[in-house]
Amino acid sequence: MIRPILIYGNPKLRESSVVISQFGYMGLDILIADMFETIKNADGVGLAASQIGLNIRLIIVNIEEENFKKAFINPDITFKSDNLVSEIENCLSLPNLAGPVERPDKIEIVYANGNLKYQKESFEGLKARVIQHEIDHLDGVLWIDHLGENRKLINEPLEYIKNMNVKVNYPIL
Ligand SMILES: [Zn+2]
Repeated sequence: MIRPILIYGNPKLRESSVVISQFGYMGLDILIADMFETIKNADGVGLAASQIGLNIRLIIVNIEEENFKKAFINPDITFKSDNLVSEIENCLSLPNLAGPVERPDKIEIVYANGNLKYQKESFEGLKARVIQHEIDHLDGVLWIDHLGENRKLINEPLEYIKNMNVKVNYPIL
């Protein structure tokens, strides 16, 4: 089921998400399937549960050109490389907006899979970038928060988004 995506201005996007406990969350498989359907429909590469209004620590990534499709439960970054790389990012919660964000190019994370089994894994390049972007969502952080001084350059488009005065081809809330 395609779920509507919360867009900038919705206070739920700014909340911190809670850890999913061993016994705490029913219907996780269905939720993950819904999230993959939702980003496919919206042509996105990643989604955090908070973007569909559920403040739990769950993200999904689907980078088709790299054949990479994965759900991460309770992800935590345990290592960040010193080497920072700047690339253009966008976000389904900030439609029609894109800008450069500097991030470490390699990370190591600990996360649980669908069976809530924990594992450690390293990622680099686009995968590392998307994972960091999505983990930011779990802490109420958006890519525009990394802009520093340049943030004021996008005040106007942000107002449009806040007022839902945007054209998108996926359902929004
Ligand atoms: Zn995003």
